[in-house]
Amino acid sequence: MNIKNAEILCVGTEILIGDIVNTNAAYISERLARLGINQYYQAVVGDNPERLSDAIKGALERADLLIMSGGLGPTYDDLTKETAAACMGRKLVLNEEALERIKQRFAFRCKTMTGNNEKQAMIPEGSTVFQNDAGTAPGCAIEDFEKGKIIIMLPGPPFEMKKMFDESVMPYLQKFTDKRFVSINVNIFGMGESEVENILKDLMDSSLNPTVAPYCGNGEVRLRVTASGHDEEECRKMCLDMVDKIQKTEVGGYIYGFDTDLACTVVENYIKKGKTIATAESCTGGLIAKRITDVAGSSEMFGYGVVTYSNEAKIKLLSVKKKTLENYGAVSKETAAEMAEGVRNLSGADVGIATTGIAGPGGGSEEKPVGLVYLGISSEKGTRTVRLMLTSGRDRVRLLASTNALSEALKEIK
Ligand code: ATP
Repeated sequence: MNIKNAEILCVGTEILIGDIVNTNAAYISERLARLGINQYYQAVVGDNPERLSDAIKGALERADLLIMSGGLGPTYDDLTKETAAACMGRKLVLNEEALERIKQRFAFRCKTMTGNNEKQAMIPEGSTVFQNDAGTAPGCAIEDFEKGKIIIMLPGPPFEMKKMFDESVMPYLQKFTDKRFVSINVNIFGMGESEVENILKDLMDSSLNPTVAPYCGNGEVRLRVTASGHDEEECRKMCLDMVDKIQKTEVGGYIYGFDTDLACTVVENYIKKGKTIATAESCTGGLIAKRITDVAGSSEMFGYGVVTYSNEAKIKLLSVKKKTLENYGAVSKETAAEMAEGVRNLSGADVGIATTGIAGPGGGSEEKPVGLVYLGISSEKGTRTVRLMLTSGRDRVRLLASTNALSEALKEIK
């Protein structure tokens, strides 16, 4: 069987009412694109057996493959397996291995297993089972090769679903498709999306395989270069050739990495060069420290991050001079410089990074409007400051300030 098109159906009333964001659909879609399996529809349905049954039947009329997530749990409203099995004319049977794993998981956590947990080990007859290494509910695939239809069911919790998808479902699906998609993400900072598009327009228009698609967010631009073919190595080579062409344009100077993000790149580069960094944050309130420490392994290059929101904190913790604050104000290049120097002295780090600014919505003036942010950067090379004028609300101002600070942190050691 060759799978050409798929649909995703996520189950859960909490997704329908906006309580949680449907990140599972995004994750699965991205993986399907890599496998070269088309998708024309996606849906969400609440925990209701009739509507669930209708949604499954509708999807199977259009698609060869239906991937479902959620509703595999032990409670009465977890109906996915029962409903999907009924739609495919199968009954549920006990899967001994799954039951044993569930029992072991409960024993390991010293918890009593209740009767309804056994329900999770019931699998549609004849299906391929994907054991769950991160939770209790196993996933499965019900196949009907005569009709050319497959339903895959995955647990709802993203952590369980992702692990199962990557370790079991990807290899399973590869057997049903001969097309491969390979992508390389080119990470850019310091040049806007429209400018990037303008420079690469001809390259983008003239190239159908690989394709080049721009995305923006966090103040950064990402170019996704995607090649399709039957050989993964060949696709990768096609992507690399395109990346090479992009690097030779004016955009090349703004590329900071591939398949990464700014915080990861900062952490990797600091570790590689044996350098350490410390942060002193006012308007970003710890966001730079958070983004750095989100990266596993960052303790090798980051030990100190202080939030000095008040003048008192700037004086006490960073030794910013009272006179500087009186003469120039907390939001000034002079204060940013002293904050960066102060945190470097406090921590003994190679590089000190500081932010001070007016995130808004209030607190701005004609001289110092909302969105004005100063960055301070201090290292053995000396101390310098950067003035930024940022827009689009408090959250965005803080986010962009942290992104610019990370970029300056990277420049400082390059
Ligand atoms: P459990 O055994 O935990 O009940 P389950 O397979 O029945 O697992 P659900 O009960 O549907 O899964 O979802 C469990 C949790 O997983 C949800 O409360 C939600 O936090 C998360 N989740 C479910 N579906 C999605 C989704 N599509 N995207 C993101 N998170 C999801």
